[in-house]
Amino acid sequence: MKKQNSYLSIIVPIFNEEEVIANFFDVMNKVLQECQEQKLLSDWEIICVDDGSQDKSYDMLCEISNKDERVKILSFSRNFGKEIALSAGLEHASGDIVIPIDADLQDPPSLIPEMIEKWREGFDVVLATRKNRQGETYLKKATASAFYKIIGKISHINIPANTGDFRLLDRKVVNAIKQLPERSRFMKGILAWPGFKTTSVYFDRDPRHAGKTSWNMWKLWQFALDGIFGFTSAPLKIWTYVGIIISLVSFIYAGTLIAKTIIYGVDVPGYASLITVVLFIGGIQLISLGIQGEYISRIYKEVKHRPLYIINEKKGFKD
Ligand code: UDP
Ligand code: MG
Repeated sequence: MKKQNSYLSIIVPIFNEEEVIANFFDVMNKVLQECQEQKLLSDWEIICVDDGSQDKSYDMLCEISNKDERVKILSFSRNFGKEIALSAGLEHASGDIVIPIDADLQDPPSLIPEMIEKWREGFDVVLATRKNRQGETYLKKATASAFYKIIGKISHINIPANTGDFRLLDRKVVNAIKQLPERSRFMKGILAWPGFKTTSVYFDRDPRHAGKTSWNMWKLWQFALDGIFGFTSAPLKIWTYVGIIISLVSFIYAGTLIAKTIIYGVDVPGYASLITVVLFIGGIQLISLGIQGEYISRIYKEVKHRPLYIINEKKGFKD
């Protein structure tokens, strides 16, 4: 049984969200207030990571933060991406429990009391798992489901499907995550990596409250590549086996050709089969080279050892 009155850190990545910020804080404050009344929380902080917003988001956040000292702001010098914004938030959070959440109200804050209850029962990680995905295209749902199937099969860590970054993390889980130094931040993998005692609560995912999503197909593809190349080296290794199989098949084929020539004499020269084999092998070699390139570019990114993000301004943190 964990202690009753705990300190909660909420982490919100924010990129051009002027249309939803006011609404988000209304809903969030109400929920946290109730948690406090039920003695689930002693107090809380909301860490807003402004990921280089170009609209009025930052000014709106400053206004809210000036009125409420529990609202803190980390403002990036440019857009670094949601994954890095979350990492910065985790780095700066001081709560006994930490909950990352999207600003667009697609992750319902009303789930937070239930998550804290689960934590108090003794779970260290409480995932918020979606029952459905409203307001998303068929293509996005299908590709997402294929991605989680593939990565589930080839990676050693268990990345939960239908679960975003919205989840409750115990302090010890956050401390474990803070030890992961990689620059390619595939947060779904990174958050799942430490393990610990995990459970889920379920919810229906609503469409975005307002504003629009900043993900397009290309960004999602890059995200999937980060997940696969960051959390498994299987794509590097399968080429040995593909090579063995292809050599075996061509060996057998060569055998039959020799036998045929001995028995029936020289046939018409096989242009079609030759060109097919050449193209096929060429294609396979290019793919395997490309896969090595993906790993090498990630190794390159790691060895440069650049800082993950640059903070332009901090508000509300005691140093
Ligand atoms: N976000 C961010 N940086 C980015 C893109 C998005 O901090 O470069 C934030 C965004 O403000 C929101 C959350 O990440 O709070 C989720 O973004 P979005 O709703 O666009 O993603 P989706 O819900 O479609 O996965
Ligand atoms: Mg969203």
